[in-house]
Amino acid sequence: KEQREQSEKVYDTQCPYCSVQCHMQLIEQRSVTRKSYKTIGKNNPTSKGRLCIKGINAHQHALHKDRLTQPLRKIGEEFVPVSWEEALAFMADSITNIQKEDGHHGMSVYGSASITNEEAYLMGKFARVALKTKHIDYNGRLCMSAAASAASAVFGMDRGLTNALEEIPYAETIVLAGTNIAECQPTIMPYFEQAKENGALIVAIDPRETETSRIADLHMKIKPGTDAALANGLLKVIIEEGLVDPSFIEERVTGFKEVKEHIASLDEGEIVEKTGIPLKDIHRVARALGQKETGMIFTARGVEQQTDGSMAVRNFLNILVATGKIGKPSCGYGAITGQSNGQGAREHGQKADQLPGYRSIENDEHRTHMANVWGIEEKELPRKGVSVFEMIEKADRGEIAGMFLLCSNPVVSNPNARFVKQALKKLKFLVAVDLFKSETAQLADLILPASSYLEDEGTMTNLEGRVTLREASMKAPGEARHDWKIICDVARALGKGQYFSFHSAEDVFNELRVASSGGIADYYGMTYARLREKKGILWPCPSLEHEGTSRIFEHAFAHPEGRAKMSVVPNEPPVKKEKTCEDYPLYLTTGRIMAHYLTGVQTRKSPSLTARDFEPFLEIHPQTAQTYNLPDGTLARIESRRGSIIVRSKWTEKIRRDTVFVPFHWDEKQNVNRLVVDDLDPNCRMPGFKVSAVKVETL
Ligand code: SF4
Repeated sequence: KEQREQSEKVYDTQCPYCSVQCHMQLIEQRSVTRKSYKTIGKNNPTSKGRLCIKGINAHQHALHKDRLTQPLRKIGEEFVPVSWEEALAFMADSITNIQKEDGHHGMSVYGSASITNEEAYLMGKFARVALKTKHIDYNGRLCMSAAASAASAVFGMDRGLTNALEEIPYAETIVLAGTNIAECQPTIMPYFEQAKENGALIVAIDPRETETSRIADLHMKIKPGTDAALANGLLKVIIEEGLVDPSFIEERVTGFKEVKEHIASLDEGEIVEKTGIPLKDIHRVARALGQKETGMIFTARGVEQQTDGSMAVRNFLNILVATGKIGKPSCGYGAITGQSNGQGAREHGQKADQLPGYRSIENDEHRTHMANVWGIEEKELPRKGVSVFEMIEKADRGEIAGMFLLCSNPVVSNPNARFVKQALKKLKFLVAVDLFKSETAQLADLILPASSYLEDEGTMTNLEGRVTLREASMKAPGEARHDWKIICDVARALGKGQYFSFHSAEDVFNELRVASSGGIADYYGMTYARLREKKGILWPCPSLEHEGTSRIFEHAFAHPEGRAKMSVVPNEPPVKKEKTCEDYPLYLTTGRIMAHYLTGVQTRKSPSLTARDFEPFLEIHPQTAQTYNLPDGTLARIESRRGSIIVRSKWTEKIRRDTVFVPFHWDEKQNVNRLVVDDLDPNCRMPGFKVSAVKVETL
C-alpha cells in the first residue's frame, strides 16, 4: 500500500464530453507490476463534483492503444506513417494545387464544437486568412444552430442559458422541451430535482418517456415534429386568458400585436389534433407559465433538429417574452448544448456567416474590426459561406474540391449518411485531424494525430456561458500535436506564418480577447490568470475589472433598440416534413443514450462504456411491433426512402405507437443517420433529424 501511494499521480482535468464540462481528477496509480487509473469528480460551480459514467471512463479513450501517434498518408488503399515535415509539405502542395485549379473557394474547412475556444478561433482565421475561402462551417450546425438562430432573432444574441444553473431550483414552472438531460447531461439533473422538491411544476415534452420525463409532473407525449404548434397552443391560452405581462411587453418587447392577431386565428381543436396533446394539459401548462412569478423553458435537439426547429424555439421564446419571464431571477431560457464546447465553438468565427465575438461576416463595421485584428484589408475577407451539409452537397457537385476536417465525423453524423460518404469520396483532397481513424478519417488522403482532453490546453465555454481554463495534464502520445499547433503549422506550410506566429494557446487567447472585444460574446476581460483564480467567468466580460455576467437581459435585450422581438410562428413549417404513408408508416426519431457521445469515435473505444451499450436498438411499442410481427430482442430492418439498417428491437410502452427511436452513436452499418431526411431549416440550415418516415420488418 505504501509503495502504491508513493507512486500516485493526480491530474486535474475536465470531462471532454458534454457541455456541462464537469471538473475531475484522473488518478494514476503505479505499482511494481501495473499502472491503473481512476477518475473522481472535483468540486466546481457547475457540476459540484458530480460525474456521470462517461466522465468516469473518459481516460479509456485518451489512453487507448489505437490513438493516432503519427501523421498517416494514404498510398493506394493503405495508410503509411510519414513525418510531420512530409505531411505538411504534402498538404501545402495539395491545397495550393486545388486553389490554383478551383480557386480559393475550392478548399473548405469543417470545424468542430468539441475543440477549445482558441482552436475554434484559429479555424475561422485559418479559413479566411490562410485559405481565403468562404467555405467554413462546423459540426455545431447539426447541433446548436436552431437555438442560436431563434435566440438571436428574439433576444438579439445567443447564450445557451440566459441564467446560471443555480437559479433553476427556484423556478416555479419548468418546461423541458425535447431534452433528455438525465441521459445527456446527467450531472445537472439535481438542479431540476431540487426545483421539484421546492414545489415546481415540471413539464416534459417528448414523444418518448425518458429518464428525464420520469421527474416530470406532466409528460406531453407529443407527435414528432409538432412543437411549434404546441407552443402556439400554449401562447393562445396565455394571451386569451390575459396571462401576459403588459408592462413588460410595453417597455421591452416589439411584435406582440402581430402575434396576438395570428394566435386569435388559430383553432385549439386543430392544435390538439396535430400535436396529440389533450387540451386540458395545454391549459394547465400555459396557466402555470402565465400565473406563476417565475418560470424557465429549456429546449434541446428534440425541438431544434427539425426543418422548422428555429421557428419552434422562437415560439417558446415568444412565451417567455410575453409573460415577462426573462432577465429576472429564475426566469429565462436554456438551450441545453450537447457538445463539450457547443457554446464557445459557435462564438469565435467557425460559422459560415460569423466572425469572432458573434460578429456578422456581412456587416461592414464588423468586417473592418476583424480585418484590423488580423492585419489584412477588409476587402480580402471572404463573404458568407454555406452550412456543413451544403458544403458536402457542393463536394458532390464538384464545386468544392478539398476539405480540412478537424475532430468531426460527418460520414456518421450527417443526415442521409450514405450520400455524404459518396460525396466526400469525390474530393480531390481530404485531410482529417483526429484522435482515431474515424469512419471519415478512413476516407482521407492524410490523417494528422491530434491531442486529447488530457493533453489539450485552452479555454472551454460551458452551457451557461461560463469560460474555464483547461490545462494540459499529460504529453500527447508519440508525435500527436495540439490541434491549435497543427492549424498554425499548416498555415506556416502555406506561407502564411506571419498571421499564425503563436507560441502557446494563451497567445491565441489573447488575440481572441481583442477580436471579441466590443462584440456580443465579449471575452476581453478574461485572462488565463483570472480564469485560474476565479475558476471560470461567465461572458460578457468586457474589462479586466468586470466580474462576468451570470444573468443576461436584466435591463435590455441585445437588439439595437434594446427590445425583444416577438414574431409570428405558423403551425405548419415552411419546409414540409416527411409524412408517414402506406409504404413508410412510422415516424423515426433519433437521439443519445447515456454511455455514448456523438458518433461514438471516442466512447466506442471505452471498454466500460461499450460493455454497457455495445449496439444501437430500435425502441418500439409492443403493439406496433406485433403489427409487424417483430419479436422483442430480435434483429429488425428499418428502412426509409434513403436506405436501411439492421438493429435489434426493444419493446417498450414508453414510446408513442406511431413512432420508433434509434440512438445515433454507431458506425455506418448501424448508423441511423443513413435513414434520416436531409431537408434543411431555411433559417439556420439545421437538418430535420427528428422526423423521418420509415418501415420496420423482421429479418
Ligand atoms: Fe459531466 Fe457531461 Fe462528462 Fe457526464 S459527460 S461527466 S455530465 S461533462
